[in-house]
Amino acid sequence: AGSGETLLDAKQVLMQFGGLKALNQVDLNVKRGTIHGLIGPNGSGKSTMMNVLTGIYMPTAGTVAFKGREVNGRSSSQIALSGIARTFQNVQLFGEMTALQNVQVGLHHAYKSNLLQVALSLPGFKRERRANAARALALLEFVGLADVAGEEARNLPYGRQRLLEIARALALDPELLLLDEPAAGLTAPDIAELLAIIKKIRETGVTVILIEHHMDVVMSLCDTVSVLDFGQKIAEGEPAAVQANEKVIEAYLGG
Ligand code: ADP
Ligand code: MG
Repeated sequence: AGSGETLLDAKQVLMQFGGLKALNQVDLNVKRGTIHGLIGPNGSGKSTMMNVLTGIYMPTAGTVAFKGREVNGRSSSQIALSGIARTFQNVQLFGEMTALQNVQVGLHHAYKSNLLQVALSLPGFKRERRANAARALALLEFVGLADVAGEEARNLPYGRQRLLEIARALALDPELLLLDEPAAGLTAPDIAELLAIIKKIRETGVTVILIEHHMDVVMSLCDTVSVLDFGQKIAEGEPAAVQANEKVIEAYLGG
């Protein structure tokens, strides 16, 4: 996968809620193999952008192309199956299910397109289920949660729950992973662990869009950063340049 190649290309995205332009003509071009930061003050439109990219919101205007194909107008599960996975700003796990089962739900979603295939291969179904458990366990291992595979998600410490969400998103085998404030509420050691995992994710070839408030996380991880303020993109580029950008400083101080 050559970098420099566009994986996701959003053009002139407008997202209007009544009179509010949560996103106002935003362009976002994400290169394959990169970690692309999306930052900005509270309420600047970051989560809204993720909701547009994942088909939860239908943009009022503008287009989103993934791998060269327009995806706006497709359902969120169609978009997920085309290779875009995400986590949410607020943890959304099945609390009474085990960590392993939470990842298996993600796997099930990934195979939904193959239901007919599953039905046609019923004798192989049990084998498939065992393979799923093995794959789910491998994903838990990848994020350092193999030892709590059998624990109910609700009993895991908050930092572990955030990692479990990432494992579940990876179960989709995405080409693009969207992380909405994964470090929010984490302790410093948990953040360090998260950083290492996100780097590992990039090494596997998955492209990442990272919404993040912690500037140190953004600085150490991101190849490119886009900055939103009141629904508009006010700056973009390498993290160091963006951090020194006057408009950006003003947006954060003013916010
Ligand atoms: P951020 O993630 O950058 O903090 P959001 O994308 O969540 O910001 O929100 C951007 C703006 O859009 C906010 O003013 C928010 O209140 C508004 N907004 C987001 N979603 C909706 C919605 N479903 N209906 C109405 N307003 C919304
Ligand atoms: Mg948000």
